Amino acid sequence: VTYTGRYTADSRDQLLAKIEKQLKPARFAHVQRVEHTAVKLAKQYGANVEKASIAGLVHDYAKQRPDEDFIAAIRHYQLDPDLVNWNNAIWHGLVGAELIKSELGIYDEEILDAVRYHTTGNRYMTTLAQIIYMADYIEPARDFDGVEQARLLTSQSLELAVAYQTKHTLMYLLENNQRIYPKTIDTYNAWVPQSG
Ligand code: GDP
Ligand code: FE
Ligand code: FE
Ligand code: FE
Repeated sequence: VTYTGRYTADSRDQLLAKIEKQLKPARFAHVQRVEHTAVKLAKQYGANVEKASIAGLVHDYAKQRPDEDFIAAIRHYQLDPDLVNWNNAIWHGLVGAELIKSELGIYDEEILDAVRYHTTGNRYMTTLAQIIYMADYIEPARDFDGVEQARLLTSQSLELAVAYQTKHTLMYLLENNQRIYPKTIDTYNAWVPQSG
């Protein structure tokens, strides 16, 4: 994918170099697999391929930041104050998008929303956000019960695939006595009941 300069002033190679500095090698390899998967899905579903590449590469940009960075950003950007009661799993997308904007100079709100909602999903997701949500879940190194079904559904219907992931992630969290972020429940209510 050759970048046009519309969404980032960096070339893909320059962006890759900045991301590599932020991430451990395994995580850096993951974001490149998510990019590849997202670009394929963008071609299939008629989404913007350049935005899919950028969003795939940056979606976990903030994953390895210390908690203090997120707490400071929640205050600085006046995000929902309840966010301080959560953790890296919830912060790296929802709060990480603000770090991507300020540090990488990526201002496209559709790209930023795709990053924001890649973990919890959202009631409203553009095709791009659905693609990043699914690409993160099914990239080739993912290996869990149900991933083959998720890959098949993603190739057939993005909406059914989003519903599948949302339901299975919620079931996993419940099984493991984890706290459920309210947006995760919103996503479930928006995508799962009417999909059956
Ligand atoms: P990754 O960054 O590529 O590892 O993947 P994600 O960003 O999609 O997910 C990060 C973690 O957040 C996963 O372990 C999810 O199970 C977890 N997660 C997703 N939704 C929730 C939630 O509502 N509550 C909690 N506690 N964790 C969640
Ligand atoms: Fe993530
Ligand atoms: Fe995910
Ligand atoms: Fe990821």
